[in-house]
Amino acid sequence: MDALRLMTRRNVVGGVAATAASLALPCPSSAQSAARIVVIGGGFGGASCARALKRIDPKLQVTLIEPNRTFTACPFSNEVIAGLREIESQQFSYDAISAAGVTVLAQAAVSVNPQMRLVVVADGKSLPYDRLVLSPGIDVRFDALPGYDEAAAAKMPHAWKAGEQTLLLRRQLEAMDDGGLVALAVPAAPLRCPPAPYERASLIAHYLKSRKPRSKVLILDAKDAFPQQRLFENAWKELYPGMIERVSLSQGGRVTSVDPATSTIVTDFGNYTAQVANVIPAQKAGRIAEIAGAADNTGWCPIDPVTFASKLVPNVHVIGDACIGGGIPKSASAANAQAKACAAAVANLISGIQPETPRLVGACYNTVAPGYAFSLSGVYQPRDGMFAEIEGGGTSPVDAPRELRTREADEAQSWYKTITVEAFG
Ligand SMILES: Cc1cc2nc3c(=O)[nH]c(=O)nc-3n(C[C@H](O)[C@H](O)[C@H](O)COP(=O)(O)OP(=O)(O)OC[C@H]3O[C@@H](n4cnc5c(N)ncnc54)[C@H](O)[C@@H]3O)c2cc1C
Repeated sequence: MDALRLMTRRNVVGGVAATAASLALPCPSSAQSAARIVVIGGGFGGASCARALKRIDPKLQVTLIEPNRTFTACPFSNEVIAGLREIESQQFSYDAISAAGVTVLAQAAVSVNPQMRLVVVADGKSLPYDRLVLSPGIDVRFDALPGYDEAAAAKMPHAWKAGEQTLLLRRQLEAMDDGGLVALAVPAAPLRCPPAPYERASLIAHYLKSRKPRSKVLILDAKDAFPQQRLFENAWKELYPGMIERVSLSQGGRVTSVDPATSTIVTDFGNYTAQVANVIPAQKAGRIAEIAGAADNTGWCPIDPVTFASKLVPNVHVIGDACIGGGIPKSASAANAQAKACAAAVANLISGIQPETPRLVGACYNTVAPGYAFSLSGVYQPRDGMFAEIEGGGTSPVDAPRELRTREADEAQSWYKTITVEAFG
């Protein structure tokens, strides 16, 4: 299947095509090349965008604001939880980005003044910008699930931002007795990386199968259907018979509250006591997007899909998980593709050139066991003010020989290498 070989949950590319709606563009001048672009958030979107801007026009003054000196990546973090890799293989420095001429500021952005075009960072410093790119990823909605706050997350980890939460969940699995119940609470869409909860359930089952074979994984789901469902369910039957149970929305799987003191998860139809509770709550754009005025009442940021310009704040662009991407799932692949297309649009706008209509290709891999993965790819273009999926994507076939699953597991590793090199060098 060619589409699969092209890209398969995770990937890339900003392309071209028709012309954007008419925009008020400044006249090109050499002074505009020295324009100041500030990028907030050094994850897959922000890091890739900052580097792409510098590549497109080395004269641009690009500043990347990111509080952490090391980025910890979510893709493949489910393997860390399952003890299949170490957290260090998820960690990347910003050295290559600095070496590419981007000014990396190790601070959190705390406010944005769109009238003055200023970003204020935690130490009080103000940074002026001509264009601001927001890529702050997600924040967990600690107000969405009764009983689940930051203190609860220390007992019932979400592990939906990689790092300490990932390691906490892994330690809890390691400490659990054989015969224990591991429950995953999965929220309704939209969420960061829609297939990742099911990948996680699979890899936890893989860990339990060899170490604690009397244990069970229970998925309590606020959705009826999920991406690549048949592929996952077939793999569960084949690899982990009787170990993974899923309660869907219509079966009463929606989690309505939690009690961290007793490790209880309450759903529409019953209570469950889990030895390990992985509670993934609803999410929203990273808080700075809301502070900047770029998030609407959904908690996410509406954008013009041609330029990624915020529909709410002038001279601000939003990419990655934080934006409302229409049909594009929230993934590192999408963030990377959006980052490159946004960089091209911003550079063009600054030079007085009409931005091209982007064509984004995204792909992602789901790993259910070492050497067993499948993939999903999509191609997206602006339609009626949103990104819509167009022809050209594909999914792994349901009835494929095991060799394809093995090959896609290898391709997943290559994908990770490519995307992290594109972002972090
Ligand atoms: C378990 C799991 C598995 C996943 N697997 C895959 C996969 O296989 N393939 C795939 O494509 N995607 C995967 N994803 C999704 C992927 O991780 C995200 O979609 C991607 O990271 C989004 O990129 P981003 O730039 O929007 O956000 P992020 O990569 O999260 O980056 C956001 C950055 O912004 C910074 N930031 C936030 N607020 C501020 C502020 N105020 N000031 C400065 N900086 C700030 C943060 O510190 C962070 O570094 C997975 C996600 C999870 C949870």
